[in-house]
Amino acid sequence: MNLNELTIREAKDGLNKKDFTSVELTAACLDRIKKRDGEINAFITVCEDLAMKEAVRADETIERGEAWPLTGIPFAVKDAICTAGVRSTGASKILDNYVPPFDATVIKKIREQGAVLLGKNNCDAFGHGASNENSMYGPVRNPRNTKKVAGGSSGGSAAAVADNMCIFAVAEDTGGSIRQPASFCGVVGMRPSYGRNSRFGIMSMASSLDTVGPIAKSVDDVAFLMEIMAGNDKMDATTVSDAVPNYVEELKKGVKGLKIGVPKEYFELEGLNEEIKELTYKKIDILEKAGCKIKQVSLPYTKYAIAVYYIIVPSEDSSNLARLDGIRYGLRADANNLFDIYANSRADGFPEEVKRRILIGTYALSSGYYDAYYKKAQKVRTLIKNDFDEIFKKVDALITPTSPFSPFDLGEKIDNPLALYLADIMVSPAAVAGVPAMSVPAGENYSGLPIGAQIIGPRFREDLVLRIGKELEKN
Ligand code: GLN
Repeated sequence: MNLNELTIREAKDGLNKKDFTSVELTAACLDRIKKRDGEINAFITVCEDLAMKEAVRADETIERGEAWPLTGIPFAVKDAICTAGVRSTGASKILDNYVPPFDATVIKKIREQGAVLLGKNNCDAFGHGASNENSMYGPVRNPRNTKKVAGGSSGGSAAAVADNMCIFAVAEDTGGSIRQPASFCGVVGMRPSYGRNSRFGIMSMASSLDTVGPIAKSVDDVAFLMEIMAGNDKMDATTVSDAVPNYVEELKKGVKGLKIGVPKEYFELEGLNEEIKELTYKKIDILEKAGCKIKQVSLPYTKYAIAVYYIIVPSEDSSNLARLDGIRYGLRADANNLFDIYANSRADGFPEEVKRRILIGTYALSSGYYDAYYKKAQKVRTLIKNDFDEIFKKVDALITPTSPFSPFDLGEKIDNPLALYLADIMVSPAAVAGVPAMSVPAGENYSGLPIGAQIIGPRFREDLVLRIGKELEKN
């Protein structure tokens, strides 16, 4: 086995036993990137020199017997997350030259534990998309079949983990951007509860939905990373101060006796691919055999989630992205007056999908329309959240497919924004409700492309989601 194929746990063991060094492990990942990324395009920036320097330092730390939990483990970060001294574009030309002076809180935490930063992952610009075709740095290709998309918006992170270019990645999920690409690439990705992980230093998309979480090769690794990433941060007032559970320890509890809900709306959905349905039912059987009680449930308001999502997200987007005007940082277009600087910088610096959302959002928030759109969407959002609250009085967690269809061809849906928005149909409800959800590999379709199953839990019960994911991964 090549070193770059290891999980965090395996890499840690090997480093601690001195079977190999962090320099060797990091070089193995960088070699893989060199060999494969010309085709996959999972990285916008690779910081080879920095990574090798950090790896040397990690080896010295290990030599002194002082290793921290992630010492010497190479990782990658979605480019919509700020990294100190390393260019962070958000996959949009408007920030092509932006080098943040600080690390996002979750990145700071991970780097303080000794992880080695390899580079920045391609994504849909500012997280807008489900196919990674809205990047101004070219699309990401699915490592299993390069004619297919890797999913989005964190397509580069999922593809980099799946193709063993890094040991793990950190990404952002506003409405599916961790889970859907994780399912398309055959890896594990968790969206935490809203309020669990600090978003300080994440390029804001829709502030009332944005979350940041891990993408990794195993549920163990995701549990381990969540322990490091989670917790209160005074730089993000939405983070809760509850103690962070020992997620790795929780995994040992298994799933016997847990009540699992199968929400009928997700399985009766028009357009749900039959193979995906079958594979998800197989996973449900596995849980039943492991001692879970399976219960059919209903989430009647879930069908409005996608409509609510596509009002709230563009509205908050249009407000958040107003800061990118060519004045303070990023690209500044040539122009003779202030208005044209704004207009030209934004016209050249944003891709079409970002402009579309700014226009829709500005409309939905404008006086006279605010009540009819944004406010109404927020009211329906409460109904969707109540649906989840009620259901979690009856069951411990829910299982659904992650995506209604398997990875599609590059170019297949890009001219039809509505078809791409529908890619979020399974993943947007948990986001709208603020509850944690994780995608785990659920097998392959007939053409060998990965399929994911989604586990959704009550708010702040990532532990339950992880336990169920672990059981599914074993089988
Ligand atoms: N597909 C979703 C969207 O385009 C994903 C967003 C996200 O989670 N960043 O809005």
